[in-house]
Parts: sequence; C-alpha cells; structure tokens
Amino acid sequence: MLRAELHVHSSLSDGRDSVRKILEAALEKGINVISITDHDTVQGSLEAIDIVSEEQLPLKVLPGCEVTASTGHVLVYGVVKDIEPKMSVEETFIAAREHGGVCFLAHPFDFIRKGSVRLKDFHTVDGIETFNAKSCFNFLARRYAKKLSKPEIAGSDAHSARAVGVAVNYLPEEADLLRSLFHARYDGRRVSIRERLAFLLFRLNRRL
Ligand SMILES: [Zn+2]
Ligand SMILES: [Zn+2]
Repeated sequence: MLRAELHVHSSLSDGRDSVRKILEAALEKGINVISITDHDTVQGSLEAIDIVSEEQLPLKVLPGCEVTASTGHVLVYGVVKDIEPKMSVEETFIAAREHGGVCFLAHPFDFIRKGSVRLKDFHTVDGIETFNAKSCFNFLARRYAKKLSKPEIAGSDAHSARAVGVAVNYLPEEADLLRSLFHARYDGRRVSIRERLAFLLFRLNRRL
C-alpha cells in the first residue's frame, strides 16, 4: 500500500509554504505519493515533479490541481496543463479527460468552501472526496458517494506544510497510479478549531 496525500495548496495559490517545504514535510511524515492541488494551476505539481526528479527523492508526484468550476471545486488528477476555471463540472470533466485526467468533487455540500451541492455533479465525476479535514459535510458526501457507488478519497486540504498528512489515502500498488485512486482507502481526522483559527489569523496578517 502507498500512503498518499491528495489535497495540498502551496504558496503558488493560497497556501502558506513553498512546494519544497511541502515535499520535505511529506517525506518526514512517511508519505509515498503526493498531489499538489493548487487552485486553478498545475504549477505547484510541475515544480514538485522537477524537485523530486532532480533530487531523486523517494516520493511519487501525482500531478493535479483544484479547479474552480461554476458550481463547485473539482480535484483533477493526472493533468499537467491548466484547466480553465468557471466552466460547468461537465465541461471541466471533459477537459480533464482530454488531458488524460480524472475528476473528484472536492468537499461537496460544503457551500462555505465552494463545494458543489448539485446532485448532477455527483453523477458527472469519477469520484468524490468524502473526507475533507476542513469540512463538516463529509457525512453527506459519503452518503451520496455510497448511493452512487463512486470511488472515495480523503483530503487534508492542507494550506501549510504542517497540515500535510492529516488525511492519508492508502492506494494499492498498481502499475497505473491514477487508476489506483479508484481503489483508495483512507484515514483522517478533522482539523481542530484552534488550528483553523491560527491559519485564519495568518491569512489576515498577510492581507494587512
Ligand atoms: Zn476547495
Ligand atoms: Zn483545497
């Protein structure tokens, strides 16, 4: 089994830390597979691929991003080109497919975090993030994923190196890493209010 962190933001979108710092944290925490899922850009993933190959780090990078579709956030894996934001989930799915990627709805039902609340979107995507460490709506996401027999993954939605590995997926060691997402199992804990407040304060300070 491979331990995979599938939802992290770097300083290339709204995260606190550099891609390098995130990779170091992942290695420290015994992560084998990481996806840097910055908002609407694969830049973080591309940087991670470069660092890992140049320094021959014992880490697999699954390229990805979190696309802002018109009705909610979509985690796209397996793409090395940016996908245009603000398209419908259907159009996002088609674009991802064209680039060889797969789509998972991010934190669905969590309208505060721009998660989709449209059942149609559940039908469209390949799978669902049914555990998001920041969301209170995981129970609903899980219920609908089960109802529709959709593959499930977990995400830390880490915005700092420290939060990497809060939610870990266990992937079977298959030849095709992307396909192995469809057979993921996971473990995770909700991020405490204290940790979330610390991050909000950091964001506020940066804005001032
Ligand atoms: Zn999101
Ligand atoms: Zn996110």
